[in-house]
Amino acid sequence: MERKKDKKNKVIHLEEFSWKQINELDRERSVFFYPISPLEEHGPHLPVGTDLMTARDTAEESIRLLQMKKPEVKGILLPPTPIGYSKINSDFPGTFTVSPRVVKEVVYSVITALGGQGFRYLVICTFHMNLGHLKGIYQAMKLGRKRYNMYICEPWGPYFYSDKIFEREPKLGFDTTKEVHGGFRETSLMKYQYPYLLDENYKNLQSIYRDLNSPRIYGKTFKELGLKEGYIGSPARADVDYGRWYFNEIVSVIVEEACNLYDGKPISDLPKNIKRIMKLFF
Ligand SMILES: [Zn+2]
Repeated sequence: MERKKDKKNKVIHLEEFSWKQINELDRERSVFFYPISPLEEHGPHLPVGTDLMTARDTAEESIRLLQMKKPEVKGILLPPTPIGYSKINSDFPGTFTVSPRVVKEVVYSVITALGGQGFRYLVICTFHMNLGHLKGIYQAMKLGRKRYNMYICEPWGPYFYSDKIFEREPKLGFDTTKEVHGGFRETSLMKYQYPYLLDENYKNLQSIYRDLNSPRIYGKTFKELGLKEGYIGSPARADVDYGRWYFNEIVSVIVEEACNLYDGKPISDLPKNIKRIMKLFF
């Protein structure tokens, strides 16, 4: 909250600028943040914009932090794009899915618009971790790096698919590896960020567990797998303190990656086994 009072530490929202103002931005010191995640059902208790709002809000907070750490840098927030590949729960109202190819084209068009004007740094903020979705993003990143010589990163995927969260999260006394979608973590996050958007019925939702990391499951939808309510995990356990920790953790992962990107240091990548699955199944 304190940070919001800091009027000097403003976040530029690109859509509010004219082309002249954009043209005046320092190519070498502007870091663009691009939130992209689909609208997608998140159980009977969470808004379909859970991933999109999280991507946008953590990107905005990351810019504030980056500008404090590196006062010479300007972070620019692009409007969030409600697009992504989310076939697995597309049989629910409120899920909008496009193909990985469309994701790639949308992301690449953003890269082209920035890289074509000589901008160098782009941080892609997605909170949607479906591998088909990430495939589109990573293919666009690869093309963009080659074509425009840009520095581009996507911080959350490499963190999410490593075991870092289990090492770093507060100890809770239950197995959080089973919290997959609309469960404890995301419900906590929304309880912290948007308590008024969280349906009170979350307290009565029973824990439902399913392993989605099995190739047998690829291509099937939630309803075909018997997941009629659209969540996997234990939303009833949601905890506002964990939500705060999780939000700040996402922000610190993004800021660390953005700093590495800007400083020309190595950035993290998806684990090899994840890349293999991405190639084979999507
Ligand atoms: Zn989500």
